[in-house]
Amino acid sequence: FIAGLDKLKSLPAETLDGFRVELLTNTGLLADATPGLERGAEGVGLYRSEIPFMIHDSFPTEEEQLRIYQKVLAAYAPKPVSMRSLDIGGDKQLPYFEMAEENPYLGWRGIRFTLDNTQLLITQIRAMLRANIANGNLKLLVPMVSRVDEMVTFRQHVEKAVDDLNKLGYPAKLPSIGMMVEVPSAMLLIPKLAPYIDFVSVGSNDLTQYLLAVDRNNPRVSALFDHLHPAVMLALEYIQKECENHDLPLSVCGEMASDPVAVLVMIALGYQSISLSAFNIPRIKLLIRSVSRAELLPILEKARGLSHESDIRALFSDIAERAL
Ligand code: PEP
Ligand code: MG
Repeated sequence: FIAGLDKLKSLPAETLDGFRVELLTNTGLLADATPGLERGAEGVGLYRSEIPFMIHDSFPTEEEQLRIYQKVLAAYAPKPVSMRSLDIGGDKQLPYFEMAEENPYLGWRGIRFTLDNTQLLITQIRAMLRANIANGNLKLLVPMVSRVDEMVTFRQHVEKAVDDLNKLGYPAKLPSIGMMVEVPSAMLLIPKLAPYIDFVSVGSNDLTQYLLAVDRNNPRVSALFDHLHPAVMLALEYIQKECENHDLPLSVCGEMASDPVAVLVMIALGYQSISLSAFNIPRIKLLIRSVSRAELLPILEKARGLSHESDIRALFSDIAERAL
């Protein structure tokens, strides 16, 4: 098995008819670096920076963050690492910072929280920029964007932090800055946001939650939570088109990147990059290498006419099963 993994690791994730998919990995722990690299991850598509914050007992300082980020960036260098700014709120709570809200998923989450706590945000950005000096493989990713001004302000903070660091003698450089599309308004605003972003990453977990108004963690409605819902499929198609129109590199980093059927749908829609847990990379790579995109296109066409996610799943599942 290990020998098989090793062989697979060096092979590209490419369909039989030559459609290449970049396979990145999701992480938040330094301990994940080895499994990711062993399984042939081509970089980190999502580094969840809240994870080191969660296992600390107070907000980590700039120096403490610097040491963590340096190790992650060094482990993957020269491969790219997209580090997401702190995404707390909703289901992600810090043990040392209480946030009691009646409706936390619609409240103080992600970029909203950090823009209201700029000292925290600036400290984190500085730590990431300093960590990036050694290898230059950092990309920044902003969670829970729902308005254009959030990206404008975030970018200003990063530019100012680069300037400040340069004045102090650190050779920090402006990294590329991407936006998570996980709130429906961000998806619809891609044309207006395009001037302020260098790439897009779809957070399909939250996008599904907000598009369908289904709590991603509530077992009572979990049967309604499905990233193959026809509205989610339409959203993914729209995002892909808009990103192509605006020359924005696009990736998907939610759980759907680990779902074989959803991966087939994304390939048919033209997605060329996905980010998933290291554990699932070999299986998804095998799947990609055993299908042709040409056989998926007519199935996608049929799926467009369907109204129920289980019918969409059924259409693609024969191919997924044949492959795995
Ligand atoms: C998502 O929402 O799909 C995502 C990748 O972010 P998280 O799961 O960390 O909210
Ligand atoms: Mg999310």
